[in-house]
Amino acid sequence: MSIIEIIQYPDPRLKLTATPVDSFDDDTKKMIDDMFDTHYDQKNCAALAHSQMAFNTPKRITVIDFSEEKNDPLCLVNPEIISKEGDTYTDEGCMSVPGGIIEKVHRAEIITVRALDKMGKPMEFKVDGFLAKCIQHELDHLNGVLFIDHISELKRQKADKRLNKLKRQERL
Ligand code: ZN
Repeated sequence: MSIIEIIQYPDPRLKLTATPVDSFDDDTKKMIDDMFDTHYDQKNCAALAHSQMAFNTPKRITVIDFSEEKNDPLCLVNPEIISKEGDTYTDEGCMSVPGGIIEKVHRAEIITVRALDKMGKPMEFKVDGFLAKCIQHELDHLNGVLFIDHISELKRQKADKRLNKLKRQERL
């Protein structure tokens, strides 16, 4: 079991675009296991993207589980959203954005996702609700985008100010 460091904003590594996974060897499986170990080690974590974790090269993998018992793992490799319907505007937070910053973000309400599982087997499914929101948030990570990149400039400045203040307090 390995716990991997979760990269914190404004680390520039969060802006990197992750590269597709092309082999499903033992290294990839170990990496996915480490991602779940790290996920389950956090409090209030719904999902993690490979690119927000301190691996050497960001890969297109996300691990999701927001079940109460933490027994409903979903791993998406090379995920793509192939269709979107509707619009929601709800609160989001992120394990890479400290200080408990939560902001409302527009997301599609229903999405159709194409991905591979951890063995490389293809899947396609349609989801809505919290899972749809989660997958869109994680896919953003794989493209170097954070939820705070979606909010207004004014709200973003407020969030940055709060984060800078927190940082100063930590140094005291
Ligand atoms: Zn996040």
